[in-house]
Amino acid sequence: MITRRSPFLQENMMIAAARLEPGADAAAPWQRQLSGAIRDPRQLLERLGLDARLLDGARAGHVLFEVRVPEAYLARIARQAPDDPLLRQVLPLEEETRSAEGYVLDPLEEAQHRPARGLIHKYAGRVLLIASPACAVNCRYCFRRHFPYADNSPSRAQWQEALDYLRGDDSIHEAILSGGDPLAASDRQLGWLVGELEAIPHLKRLRIHTRLPVVIPDRVDDALLGWINATRLQKVMVLHINHANEIDQTVVDACTRLKKAGVTLLNQSVLLRGVNDNVATLAALSERLFEAGILPYYLHVLDPVQGAAHFDVPDDEARTLVSRLRSHLPGFLMPRLVREVSGEASKTPL
Ligand code: SF4
Repeated sequence: MITRRSPFLQENMMIAAARLEPGADAAAPWQRQLSGAIRDPRQLLERLGLDARLLDGARAGHVLFEVRVPEAYLARIARQAPDDPLLRQVLPLEEETRSAEGYVLDPLEEAQHRPARGLIHKYAGRVLLIASPACAVNCRYCFRRHFPYADNSPSRAQWQEALDYLRGDDSIHEAILSGGDPLAASDRQLGWLVGELEAIPHLKRLRIHTRLPVVIPDRVDDALLGWINATRLQKVMVLHINHANEIDQTVVDACTRLKKAGVTLLNQSVLLRGVNDNVATLAALSERLFEAGILPYYLHVLDPVQGAAHFDVPDDEARTLVSRLRSHLPGFLMPRLVREVSGEASKTPL
């Protein structure tokens, strides 16, 4: 049994709202959806008409990493379908409490690469900034489900250490906003941070790793597009979508708004048992991504994070799947199958 309680249970949404700058923005529609997300396993089961016998397992997983599902995502999950591929990503299970050999709290050993609070520097030329500790959805396979966000959520004053680090290293050309989900921070907070970043002359690109435009498409509102349009930095958004059913018309519309603002849209997926571990599903995902204006980028094998072993697809099976996928798709719709290995200078192709 896993006994360590997730730091997600210790943090709350107040951290996300207050870290960069005191004083709250008036709640935008997406923020109301965020705070109204389902956080109770029983409610999730009832809303989807699922068997109450799933509740004990759901509660056991929820204790380790709380359930969080916003309404806009819930609307894409089929009712009375325990194997729905979107539900599998968000429903806590008893399996999460089981230990598995090689599955650890910090599979990417990110703790070793933090020269400043809120900043991770693993790869040459780019750094990752933890812009928000919160997510709009809690994905059960998340490799940061045990990340110590409380220790890595700088206030505006505390960001100076990370910004000084960036100013002092002119080999860094790209800042990656990550989290949690960086777009869970308010636009006033993000606008301030991006303003500080674009004042650093050697920074060229702003990359945003986010799932929010997928799970709450209303996040792509005028306030977000305001600071995105205003920055001199080149903009890349790496979305996280694992199944074609996640892309409904609201997501397509959000992507259209982002593309009009000059954002390059890429997608990274995780290969997950019971979600997308077959050729037809992966091919449909790539096709649907392209229809929405998004290019497939990476297909990650699962990071061995404690509590997620039931999602694993062995390497040999992953290679076979991708090899067969190649005969179904043009090259530009093929994601690269990779693993993130601690200490390596880049992602490792499989
Ligand atoms: S949105 Fe990303 S960071 Fe948040 S729980 Fe899901 S995979 Fe993890």
